[in-house]
Amino acid sequence: MTSWKDLQKVADLEKVYPKHILDKFPISGKHQAYADVSDENWYDWKWQLKNRITNLEGLSKVIDLTEEEKSAFEKSNEKFKMAITPYYGALMDKTDPNCPVRLQSVPNMGELNVLETDLEDPLAEDKDMPVPGLTHRYPDRVLFYVSNDCPMLCRHCTRKRKVADENSTAGRKQIDGGLEYIRSNKQIRDVIVSGGDPLCLNNDLIDYILGELRKIEHVEIVRIGSRNQVTMAYRLFDDELIKILEKHQPIHINTHFNHPKEMTREALLASTRLALAGVTMGNQSVLLKGINDDALIMKEISHKLLLMRIRPYYIYQCDLSEGISHFRTSIDKGVEIIEKMRGWTSGLAIPQFVVDAPGGGGKIPVNPQYFVKRDGKKVVLRNYKKEEFTYYEP
Ligand SMILES: *Cc1c(COP(=O)(O)O)cnc(C)c1O
Repeated sequence: MTSWKDLQKVADLEKVYPKHILDKFPISGKHQAYADVSDENWYDWKWQLKNRITNLEGLSKVIDLTEEEKSAFEKSNEKFKMAITPYYGALMDKTDPNCPVRLQSVPNMGELNVLETDLEDPLAEDKDMPVPGLTHRYPDRVLFYVSNDCPMLCRHCTRKRKVADENSTAGRKQIDGGLEYIRSNKQIRDVIVSGGDPLCLNNDLIDYILGELRKIEHVEIVRIGSRNQVTMAYRLFDDELIKILEKHQPIHINTHFNHPKEMTREALLASTRLALAGVTMGNQSVLLKGINDDALIMKEISHKLLLMRIRPYYIYQCDLSEGISHFRTSIDKGVEIIEKMRGWTSGLAIPQFVVDAPGGGGKIPVNPQYFVKRDGKKVVLRNYKKEEFTYYEP
């Protein structure tokens, strides 16, 4: 039986999967703009973090910048900085400004358009905050922010107000305050460790947080919300981190793939290592115009996720965060995508479409309507092919 320890580089995946599966996950490798960087550095997540692309000069090494992108960078950088890992940068199309990876990471003129209905804190996370850095909205679970930094600053980020803001770093004091709140509230069974990206923290701090949570008897589920598998897959190449995750079982990770282009051989290696270490995984996509607002793309994401042993969990309607209106679709679009998947592909591949309600109402599922009519105990339903069937209730 192969162990995650046997999987150190992408070539090792040949021990686990047949070639026709591996072929679906192209190797990303080292971008030619970084030819002078040693392999040892390139595949080291700390080097990736330290060498994030944060200015036009760095960006122009990996893509042919358009005038519009340059101008959008200059006008947006003060409000929401740019940061792209060289790993993610290597996935961008050099010439196509509409590349789905590029749209998620390079500033766009659409960001300058802040609508009257946009909100700084769209999900009112700061309202349900009993102690700094922890949102307690649902009865039995909390969202626990342990870092305000991320390897990449996604342009569609819902937590723009906090992420990468130097004045709001989640320090050790905030982490200990959150742990104390969880310890003293027995109804909390499920803790979502989030941020920023928790896997940005150093291994010792991650070990400390997970270890403290595991000591609390009423805490059953520990979930980590992390996009590292997508934006810096090499983080999961770190044996010490995998050992820590293995030690504090059961651990779930929810990640955030938004497009098949992000599903590289490196990402497959990252998820396989996690799976073999006993971590279960889910994916939360955000419905983004021009990126994944298409049933065929969503289906492809889902199929690849299942091969990566990641269960599609949610598709989020893009929320009302400031300066992301150019990414928003109608809610009907999300319902249409689900309708085009349900029945037409494995039930396992179908995520729940939700609108995270502005103002802090929580996640509201929105589904296609399969109920046709009721006549006493006769209920008429329709199937995925729009054929009607009658069910007789007792
Ligand atoms: C999303 C979220 C959760 C977790 O919700 P699930 O539906 O259990 O995944 C918990 N708390 C807050 C504040 C959230 O936004």
